[in-house]
Amino acid sequence: MTISVPVQKPTRSRKANWIRGWVQLFFFVLITLIAVNHTLAETGKDIPFLSSVSLHALCPFGGVVTLYQFITTGTFVQKVHQSSLILMIIGLVLAIFAGPVFCGWVCPLGTFQEWIAKLGKKIFKRRYNHFVPAKIDRVLRYLRYVMLISVIYMTAKSLTLVFADIDPYYALFNFWTSEVAIGGVIVLVVTMLASFFIERPWCKYACPYGALQGLFNFVRVAKLRRNIPTCINCKVCDKACPMNIEVSTASIVRNHQCISCMECTSDAHCPVPATIDFVIRGSK
Ligand code: SF4
Ligand code: SF4
Repeated sequence: MTISVPVQKPTRSRKANWIRGWVQLFFFVLITLIAVNHTLAETGKDIPFLSSVSLHALCPFGGVVTLYQFITTGTFVQKVHQSSLILMIIGLVLAIFAGPVFCGWVCPLGTFQEWIAKLGKKIFKRRYNHFVPAKIDRVLRYLRYVMLISVIYMTAKSLTLVFADIDPYYALFNFWTSEVAIGGVIVLVVTMLASFFIERPWCKYACPYGALQGLFNFVRVAKLRRNIPTCINCKVCDKACPMNIEVSTASIVRNHQCISCMECTSDAHCPVPATIDFVIRGSK
């Protein structure tokens, strides 16, 4: 028996696409303004009603790397603030509920890579995001865990924010200041160049915070489910996924690289209504 399913015409921008686009733009502009304000504050001309804190205070990963020192001594790693711990807890709660929402919706560095990807897609069309041979790609994707463990270990040992020396996020929003490390600028430039060929290369292969967030894909409450009876096996979801996850072969997506961006869902790219959705654990 053949089941007939309604297929919606693919549109360039469905609900989830544009909501996410605006959320990403909001956080990108906000972080840019705060970073500029931090510089202006040093000259006494800061923008009123806007925070002028250093971006280190707004990074949830700062909360992760300072955790050991905070538990053992009650103090923070140099440059890290209490706000980083609070953001880390918010990121953690979000991740337990819906996976790496921070990566897919908030992180301005992820957004920046996606913007470059738009250009890459125009140039390379279908070849875009498929340049790295599958075998090498599979191995490279575990590098970010090596990065995570190394950064936590070295921070705990040195009691300094070692990641700041190579952090492309900090470099992106501070490249005009003397506070930025040359290592961070180099990593940022490499990330930008790689983004012309690969979508979100920093997130896929190197981001230690993305590595940590990705682990919650195995336990998160809201899971990404493909409704097998209505799926027409068109593989549009696979093509839409920035992280190259084969959504069309899974019934529940449990991949450590998922960034909860919703690009694969029926609210974004899947042409069949209610075929890929977030569902709460335990629901049918
Ligand atoms: S789940 Fe993927 S393969 Fe199935 S209909 Fe939707 S886009 Fe096509
Ligand atoms: S599986 Fe879906 S939600 Fe996860 S990264 Fe890919 S497109 Fe985004």
